[in-house]
Amino acid sequence: MTEENNQDPEVDLDAKLEEMMLNLRLPDPADLQDEIDGITSSEALAEFEKKHLGKGSSIAGEMRNLGRLPQDQRREAGRRINEVRQAVQGRVNERQEALTVQERAASMAAEGIDVTVDHRQIPIGSLHLIQQVIDEVSDIFTGLGYHVADGPEAELAWYNFDALNTPPDHPGRLESDTMYLDYGKPEDEMLLRAHTSPVQARYMEQNPPPVYIVSPGRAYRNDTIDASHLPVFFQIEGLAVDENIKFSDLKGTLEEFARQFFAPDTVVRLRPHYFPFTEPSAEVDVSCFNCDRGESSCRVCGGSGWLEMLGCGMVDPAVFEAVGYDPDAVTGFAFGMGVERLAMVRHGIDSIRHFIDNDLRFLEQFQG
Ligand SMILES: [Zn+2]
Repeated sequence: MTEENNQDPEVDLDAKLEEMMLNLRLPDPADLQDEIDGITSSEALAEFEKKHLGKGSSIAGEMRNLGRLPQDQRREAGRRINEVRQAVQGRVNERQEALTVQERAASMAAEGIDVTVDHRQIPIGSLHLIQQVIDEVSDIFTGLGYHVADGPEAELAWYNFDALNTPPDHPGRLESDTMYLDYGKPEDEMLLRAHTSPVQARYMEQNPPPVYIVSPGRAYRNDTIDASHLPVFFQIEGLAVDENIKFSDLKGTLEEFARQFFAPDTVVRLRPHYFPFTEPSAEVDVSCFNCDRGESSCRVCGGSGWLEMLGCGMVDPAVFEAVGYDPDAVTGFAFGMGVERLAMVRHGIDSIRHFIDNDLRFLEQFQG
């Protein structure tokens, strides 16, 4: 045996592999980067990909030649070819992503879509002043232990009139005042409620005393529109029924409401009045919050020093009987006010029509 034949076979293989690698015709992926960066369309990139990775490419050629290499070199050569192929493919894919973004933007620009333009601002609305007042009044009474009750706007005449001690010959029942939906038999007579008071009757029918509720909502009357009338308007009514409720409780409750809603030093004045469902009844004035006890120049009170605000009274025993309460066991009071009126007085609004004109110049002054 010669010395040469005693050479380490491992060293022999390394040398052969080194020679094989040098002989592989493979591109250096880093050298291709400049060319890739200079490609400006997907089509041109596809051409590049075909040239360097397709069937006719040197990479594909070397892959095919693998089979001709000696068994002990095949594995290493295959690894090397694959490494280069993946590196070139990765750079092509990266360029393709960038081109896709550019081409999409160009296409949108061609269609007139400019993604850099600020999106259109959709104006955000706010609660209507009427709803704000309803919420505020409801909050005040909730704070006094009341809760809010609701009822239908299309109502049986019985709840709108009879249960509230309004006799069949009352002028309010005339078609000229009330919006009827269906005449039919007296017990089926349907109408659009003329006040929110039917809620009180319905509530008492369903719930035993004690009762402390406010019921805000729409009411309907056959009124011609003018500066102080709308055929559809809002009311808030209140009802308290309990043992031993007195007229002084009614006055104290309304004073507390007026102080919270208008001003802490507001004074309340009650004038005798008549309502079918309360006895005794009163109209309530609150002292003007805009002037000192009636200045002739005051645009809010017109110099009288008082503002007519609401109607109220002690619940008529006939109403308790109609809803199944014992008039000897409970007493109560009720009050009702126009929501538009509250808002007009407090904000010096001169016409009730502003509430339904949908004029943003008006509405925007009261963004709640
Ligand atoms: Zn005044």
